[in-house]
Amino acid sequence: MHELNEHHGDTADALISAARFSFERGWMPAAAGNLSARLDDDRMLITEAGQHKGLLDQDGLMLVDLEGNVLSPDKQPSAETFLHIILYRRWPRIGAVVHTHSVNTTVLSRCAQGGQIQLRDYELLKALPGVTSHDAEVIVPVFGNDQDIPQLAARVDEHMSHHPELLGYLIEGHGFYTWGEDIAQARHHAEAFEFLFECELNMRRLTP
Ligand SMILES: [Zn+2]
Repeated sequence: MHELNEHHGDTADALISAARFSFERGWMPAAAGNLSARLDDDRMLITEAGQHKGLLDQDGLMLVDLEGNVLSPDKQPSAETFLHIILYRRWPRIGAVVHTHSVNTTVLSRCAQGGQIQLRDYELLKALPGVTSHDAEVIVPVFGNDQDIPQLAARVDEHMSHHPELLGYLIEGHGFYTWGEDIAQARHHAEAFEFLFECELNMRRLTP
């Protein structure tokens, strides 16, 4: 993709690697899910709509600015591109976003009570920043699914404005968004949360 300079090519390669990893873990089946990385104050690199994450290459990525303008000619943005944009706009510390559509996030998000999932008593919670003990509690909000993406984005952004500690959120019957300072950290958070969601789902099966 000729718009990318050498430095951005490294970012593209890291996104492709994270996409293949996510596909292989079952988090992004059937071309679902998406990933992005911030390039600078105004632009991000994101997976194009409909790209299979197990077969992704640089042609499957596109440049979009944080106003939502497509900067890569002839590329089709995902409907959910705006959900990435609001994260980068909200917190400058966010450098990358991973959005999964796993079985565990899809099912668990439908079992939420009170609009949230509470995670506690799992040793792996310590994989998350700021968590030093298994008895800490991590709250993951669950938003109702909505095909009106700007409306959903506004609800997420409003919640984030009151919760600076937030590391991710679920969308009911849909999937999970998480982020990090860079692609490696965003992928790490996805891996930790996907494990924790699987634990929680299994606990609810065994001890309903
Ligand atoms: Zn999605």
